[in-house]
Amino acid sequence: MVLADLGRRINAAMADLTRSNVVDEKVLDSMLKEICMALLESDVNVKLVSTLRANIKKKINLKDQAPGVNRRRLVQKTVFDELCALVDCQSEDGDSASAFKPKKGRSSVIMFVGLQGAGKTTSCTKLALWYQRRGFKVGLVCADTFRAGAFDQLKQNATKAKVPYYGSYTETDPVAVAAAGVARFKSEKFDIIIVDTSGRHRQEEELFAEMVQISKAVKPDQTIMVLDATIGQAAESQSKAFKESSDFGAIILTKMDGHAKGGGAISAVAATRTPIVFIGTGEHIHDLEPFTPTQFISKLLGMGDIKGLVDHVKHMNLDQKETMKHIEQGIFTIRDLRDQMSNIMKMGPLSKMAGMIPGMSQLMGEVGEEESGKRLKRMMYIMDSMTEKELDSDGKIFVSEPTRMTRVAKGSGTSVREVEEVLSQQRTMARMVKQVGGKKPRPKMKRLRA
Ligand code: GDP
Repeated sequence: MVLADLGRRINAAMADLTRSNVVDEKVLDSMLKEICMALLESDVNVKLVSTLRANIKKKINLKDQAPGVNRRRLVQKTVFDELCALVDCQSEDGDSASAFKPKKGRSSVIMFVGLQGAGKTTSCTKLALWYQRRGFKVGLVCADTFRAGAFDQLKQNATKAKVPYYGSYTETDPVAVAAAGVARFKSEKFDIIIVDTSGRHRQEEELFAEMVQISKAVKPDQTIMVLDATIGQAAESQSKAFKESSDFGAIILTKMDGHAKGGGAISAVAATRTPIVFIGTGEHIHDLEPFTPTQFISKLLGMGDIKGLVDHVKHMNLDQKETMKHIEQGIFTIRDLRDQMSNIMKMGPLSKMAGMIPGMSQLMGEVGEEESGKRLKRMMYIMDSMTEKELDSDGKIFVSEPTRMTRVAKGSGTSVREVEEVLSQQRTMARMVKQVGGKKPRPKMKRLRA
């Protein structure tokens, strides 16, 4: 089962619980059964699923709950927490996924390892661009001298991303190329130097031996293993095998878009206690997202990922000043919604961006990219038909004067129901922004509302 379906199944199970009159053992069990089935069908390990189930049962313990406790809220919060725990990849010594913190003005070396085809070269460029957009001076080094064409591929990607690169057509020793590239970028005071290595050899031992040698030569501050998420639970054994020879500290899980049973891969990696730092969500150079369990689960369950969206938008160099100011103040007007949507339409695959907006993925439903695009456009027409005053409002003006809705619907060639949908979307966003924005961020769980 692909991730979007998993999210929908879990949501549906929780919605059943919300609809039932009483929340008792029977209702809880049936919800848990459905959630566990969905997780298993997404390829999550049986043992992990049964642990999740046991943990939820233990934490909720309906019999011992005081009468005033909101059972629904408790169940939702517990399910959310346990899903986060399931994909939480904190290392054994408690390092968070983002333990590696490069500093400007000091050269940090990141070395990439992983099997050929996993998405190493693509992810190197994506990561380089990610850091570059955050103001770091980044260079890419191609230390794959085994595969003909490897340097050309990196060169092509790097040129597209406008990232400086280093490689050689004549040098056959990958250790020498890696060392020379790192030395060159260090002497030019680059902040981050990313070294791409080979993913294939005549023999596996040679590949691992080469990794060790390159690592000794470039002394990486962080080694990242790139893993293809489509291999599902096999991610665990593959990462373990690599770990034995190259002591990587982090993982990038690629191909989390499309039909990947991503849930399986993430939980398998989580079991190895190695933090996933990023996930690759497409072939485009912007398709890289930092991985944090809470944000990932929020998005999975259609609760959106405002933090991710704000971060993403911030680094797309789009005109965001007003909205950012508003978000900081905990405000979100209809105009903000319109600006966000118009940015989203510029930013790439809609279905992906929509997932970051609370409630939007449900609104888009299963209609696919084309239909989603059409719906977004209609929402834009609606907002374009509003007056300046309406756009800058929090939407209540439409409640006190409903004729405004009829006027907007007519003007935009849509229906009143669609106008209502836009307003409801803005209200959801405003609620979320109120919670994440402002000086005092509220606990994340307040976002959980079925
Ligand atoms: P390498 O051999 O490990 O360097 O792998 P490449 O970077 O050449 O990637 C192999 C293939 O996977 C290419 O066709 C990439 O476009 C594709 N790829 C890499 N990352 C992703 C991803 O996150 N999503 C999708 N859909 N494809 C990806």
